Amino acid sequence: MARGYEALQEVLALLLPVECAGCGEPGPPLCRRCETQLQPHPVTRTLPCGMRVTSALWFEQVPARVLRELKQDGRTGLARALGEALAAAVVAAGIVGPVHFVPVPSSRAAFRRRGYHVGELLMRRARLPVTRLLRPVRATVDQRGLGRVARAGNVRDSLAAPPVPGVRVVLVDDVVTTGATLSEAYRALRAAGAEVVCAVTVAATPRRADTGGARAS
Ligand SMILES: [Zn+2]
Repeated sequence: MARGYEALQEVLALLLPVECAGCGEPGPPLCRRCETQLQPHPVTRTLPCGMRVTSALWFEQVPARVLRELKQDGRTGLARALGEALAAAVVAAGIVGPVHFVPVPSSRAAFRRRGYHVGELLMRRARLPVTRLLRPVRATVDQRGLGRVARAGNVRDSLAAPPVPGVRVVLVDDVVTTGATLSEAYRALRAAGAEVVCAVTVAATPRRADTGGARAS
């Protein structure tokens, strides 16, 4: 059903007059100039839990607007360019040996609102096989607007996985900000016996240290 919904959205996007998700100009869903801004420049950072996270884009300006349009307005046609960026992050992560790609699940509320899982949609566009291991075991509130400490508390013990001893896993998510959600996914999978190799995301929120202090968000 999710696939049918995506296909319908893509057909509608072709029929209805649209504007570019990156700059708002009337025309194609993503103009040439904005598509150029989605060319991946992978960066890797290490979360306090010790897990490496490789991200294709900075979550700012055009990439941030396009991801928000995909997540909030259901413009699933935008997933193609973002999926290509995700695929580039996977290559840059230098993963060796067979792994299962495990999406960080959307909250139940987000799934009900959208009717599809953003992470899984992006994985299909990146041609990554989806292994569903994680499930939400309690409700969380929207992470936006929460500080680092509040985010960690909000997601603590919110995910669980069935026993998967020795299974090698790469976590996949759309955006990494403080890393609280990815760290919770890492904890849940390790508790289930998995070996978590690394994580990949489409985008990463810039921190001062990463951008020479020019950006405060
Ligand atoms: Zn544009």
